[in-house]
Amino acid sequence: MEFRDLKKQYEVLKADIDRAMTEVAASGAYIMGDPVRALEQELAEYVGVKHCLACANGTDALTLALKAIGVGKGDAVFVPDFTFFATAEVVSLEGATPVFVDVNPDTFNMDPKSLDDAVRSVHDNMTLRPRAVIAVDLFGLPADYAALRAITKREGMALIEDGAQGFGGSIKMPNATGEGFTVRRACSFGDISTTSFFPAKPVGCYGDGGAVFTDNDEWAALIASLRVHGKGSYKYDNVRIGLNSRLDTIQAAILRVKLKAFKEYELEAVNRNAEYYTQLLGGMTKFLKKEIQITPPTVPTGFTSSWAQYTIRLSVPSGNGTFNREALMAKMKAKGIPTMVYYPTPMSKQTAFKEVHSFALTPHAEKLSKSVLSLPMHPYLTREDVRTVAENLINSL
Ligand SMILES: *Cc1c(COP(=O)(O)O)cnc(C)c1O
Repeated sequence: MEFRDLKKQYEVLKADIDRAMTEVAASGAYIMGDPVRALEQELAEYVGVKHCLACANGTDALTLALKAIGVGKGDAVFVPDFTFFATAEVVSLEGATPVFVDVNPDTFNMDPKSLDDAVRSVHDNMTLRPRAVIAVDLFGLPADYAALRAITKREGMALIEDGAQGFGGSIKMPNATGEGFTVRRACSFGDISTTSFFPAKPVGCYGDGGAVFTDNDEWAALIASLRVHGKGSYKYDNVRIGLNSRLDTIQAAILRVKLKAFKEYELEAVNRNAEYYTQLLGGMTKFLKKEIQITPPTVPTGFTSSWAQYTIRLSVPSGNGTFNREALMAKMKAKGIPTMVYYPTPMSKQTAFKEVHSFALTPHAEKLSKSVLSLPMHPYLTREDVRTVAENLINSL
């Protein structure tokens, strides 16, 4: 069994993907060819924002967002302590200071209460200016944007959505008029939102890729310039320091095929699989000793996930008080079932950030890093596969 079966996906989409790749090869337009613009339009429409700008990867997408907003030295940028390194890395790369915020242990996403505490602590410290929040849609579930937005608004901070794993998720939000609801998709919640098309993400290409989303015309124009060496009126007129961060035409062509499958059935399939996992694990816990607990992932009312990961929490007592997750993973691997730990180290404990001042305690992030386990999850996993994984997990425990 594969953790995320991209070869199976290729088998299913082969005819369309091969055609798309061959067309690009024959066109000669390998950089910024027509499929890039077409993809950007399709993505913007799906997400429900005015502008989409494709770029080289999800990390650059975050860097472009920070540059457009003008984040730099002396700025505090609040990031969840429990995320992939890139979310915090880009902050330091721009010369700003990442401030690590604790997460909600049930949703794995930034805890608004902890953000509030961290902002106050930065104010009290008086060395940094609270400037922006990067919220992450971890494992496919959008963060609590209603609560986070209230804080960024009050503080005059920019809200950036790191939707690298979130693409396809949604939140049913009350309308501004106070009447009725609107379902809003991930990558529309930030002042600027970003995503990644790394192969294993909800929508992945055959290499690196990413995109930036915004409704702001000025920022969109700035990012269009920044991604091509800070170009001005034409390519050899350079008006600012930028990056070389474009999405290859061939990746755009592949992504158009994958986006279609994602919209038509893949997103539905991962949700079906997640639901089945949760149902099975709930029903099987009775076979475990009562001190062993499995907590399936939580999806709050009104939210949907795109299930970049299906991540459970384990509570397993052992002689010395720590549970041997590696032994469990090895047992499952021996039965042909791959599992992963996302993520074993909170940002505040990363060597690269050892000099970064800590403004908030992050006990939930620390506990999660020791207790999470991600199970195989992708749209081509069968019901049979899901059952095999669940049974194997229970047996191994
Ligand atoms: C994957 C990921 C990124 C970075 O995306 P790349 O395309 O690999 O650069 C950033 N943030 C999060 C949360 C991610 O999962």
